[in-house]
Amino acid sequence: MTDEIPMTIGGSAVTTAGSFEVIDPATGVPFATAPECTEAQLDQAMGAAREAFRTWKQDEAARRELLLAGADAVLAATDTIAPLLTREQGKPLADARMEVRSVALWLRHFAGLDVEDEVLQDDDKAHIRVVRRPLGVVAAITPWNFPLSLAAWKIAPALRAGNTMVLKPSPYTPLATLVLGQVLADVLPAGVLNVVSGSDPLGALMTGHPVPRKISFTGSVATGKHVAAAAAPDLKRITLELGGNDPAILLDDVDVEAVAERLFWSAFRNNGQVCSAVKRIYAPEHRYDEVVEALAAVAGSVRVGAGSDPKSRLGPLNNAPQLKRVARLVDDALSRGGQAVVGGAVVDGPGFFYQPTILRGVADGMAVVDEEQFGPVLPVLPYRSLDEAVERANGTHFGLSGSVWGTDADRAAAVADQLDCGTAWVNTHLALRPDQPFGGAKWSGIGVENGHWGLHSFTEVKVLHRSHA
Ligand code: NAD
Repeated sequence: MTDEIPMTIGGSAVTTAGSFEVIDPATGVPFATAPECTEAQLDQAMGAAREAFRTWKQDEAARRELLLAGADAVLAATDTIAPLLTREQGKPLADARMEVRSVALWLRHFAGLDVEDEVLQDDDKAHIRVVRRPLGVVAAITPWNFPLSLAAWKIAPALRAGNTMVLKPSPYTPLATLVLGQVLADVLPAGVLNVVSGSDPLGALMTGHPVPRKISFTGSVATGKHVAAAAAPDLKRITLELGGNDPAILLDDVDVEAVAERLFWSAFRNNGQVCSAVKRIYAPEHRYDEVVEALAAVAGSVRVGAGSDPKSRLGPLNNAPQLKRVARLVDDALSRGGQAVVGGAVVDGPGFFYQPTILRGVADGMAVVDEEQFGPVLPVLPYRSLDEAVERANGTHFGLSGSVWGTDADRAAAVADQLDCGTAWVNTHLALRPDQPFGGAKWSGIGVENGHWGLHSFTEVKVLHRSHA
C-alpha cells in the first residue's frame, strides 16, 4: 500500500480517521487508501473557501499571476502525478502525462482570459456598465475518466473569475486530484482551493451544503438529476456536464481507408471512457461491410495492457462495475443477433480488461446502441437514406456531440448542422480546446464549460447604472 495522501483544507494537509480503498484496475487489487472526509471536515473546507473568497475576489492581477505559477508547479510535478493517475485510472502513462499537461494548459489559458465589462451608455445622461462578479464558493464534483482535466475545466475558470472552491474527485480516482490539491496549495492562498475525498454521499453533502453558490458537476445523467434537485432549494447555480451517446454519420463519399484509424480513436480513446466519444456509427448500407472491416482491422491491431507498460495503447476499464456493464451490453447484443467482428469478451486474467470490440448486425433499440456504453465497444449500424440517419442520430435523450464524415466537407457540414447536440464535428471528433465552449443539449447537460462562455458561468451579471440627471 502506498502512503495515504491527505486532503487539502484551508491550505493544510488534513488526514481523517476513516478511509476507503483505491483499486489498481490493471490488477483488480487495492494499492492505496484515501481519506473519507467527515461532515465536520467538509464544513471546515466550505468555511475556509468562504473566508478565502473575501480577499481572492479582490485582486485580479494576483489571480492571473498565481494561476500561471500553478501551471508551472503542476508541470514540475508531472513525474509524481502522472504515474499515480495511471495506477488509479488505468490509462497508459503517455496519456496520463498528457492529461497533467492539459491542466497546465487550462490554467494558463484562463489566466490570460479577460472578464470583459460592457458599457451600454456613456454620455451626459448616464453611465451604464455591465460587470461580471464572482459567485462565491463553488462546489466542484468530478468523475473517474479524466479526473485531472475535468477538474482543471472547473478550477481554472472558477478561480480566474474570483471564486474559491471545494473540489471532490470520484472515489474510484481520488489520488491524482489529492496531489493536485497539494501542489496548488503550495502556490495559492490558503482556502482558495480545497480538495476533499470520499464516497458518493460526500457529493450529496456538498450539493446540499448552504455555503456554495454554485455547483459545477461532471458525471452521469442519473447523478446530474440528483444534483439539479439538490441545488434547487437554495437556488444554487449549476453547470452539469453529463453523459453522451455520440453518433458519427459516415456519408456515401467517405474515404473509409483514410478515416478508419481516426474514427477508431474517436471511439476508443481512454478505452471508450469519454463522455463525448463516438458511441454509434451510422454507415451507408452499400458501404457497411467496408466500414466494419476497416474498423475491425484497427481494433484487432491495438495492444491492450497495463497502463504502466509503454507498449499498451489501451488500458483496463476503470472499475469492476463498469467492466460488468460493458460485458452485459455486449452479451445482450450478441444474444439478440449482433456479431462481434472482433473482440466481444472480457480478457482472461486479473484486472478489468475488455477486448476492443466492433459490433455488426446490431440495431437501434438494443441497449448497446441506445445507452452510453462508456467502454471499448462500438456498434456499427447501416442506414438507407441520410434523413433516416439524422433522425436516428437525434432520436435519443442524449445530445452531447456528434460528427459527420465525408469527402465533400461542405455537404458533411450541412448534415452536421442538423445534429441536435452541443458540438458537431466534421471529419474529426473529440477535438477540444480551452477556448471552445463544451456542453450538452437535452439530457447531456446544462450550461457549458471552457472559453469565455465557461468563464462567464462562474460569474453573475451586475449592472452599475449611474444617472447624471
Ligand atoms: P457518477 O455520476 O457516478 O459520479 C460522478 C461524481 O459524482 C463522483 O465524484 C461521485 O462520487 C459523485 N456523486 C455520486 N452521487 C452523488 C450525489 N448524489 N450527489 C453529488 N455527487 C454525487 O459518474 P461516473 O460514473 O463517475 O462518470 C461517468 C459519467 O460521467 C458518464 O456518464 C460520462 O459520460 C460522464 N462524463 C461527462 C462529461 C462531460 O463533460 N459531459 C465528461 C466526463 C464524464
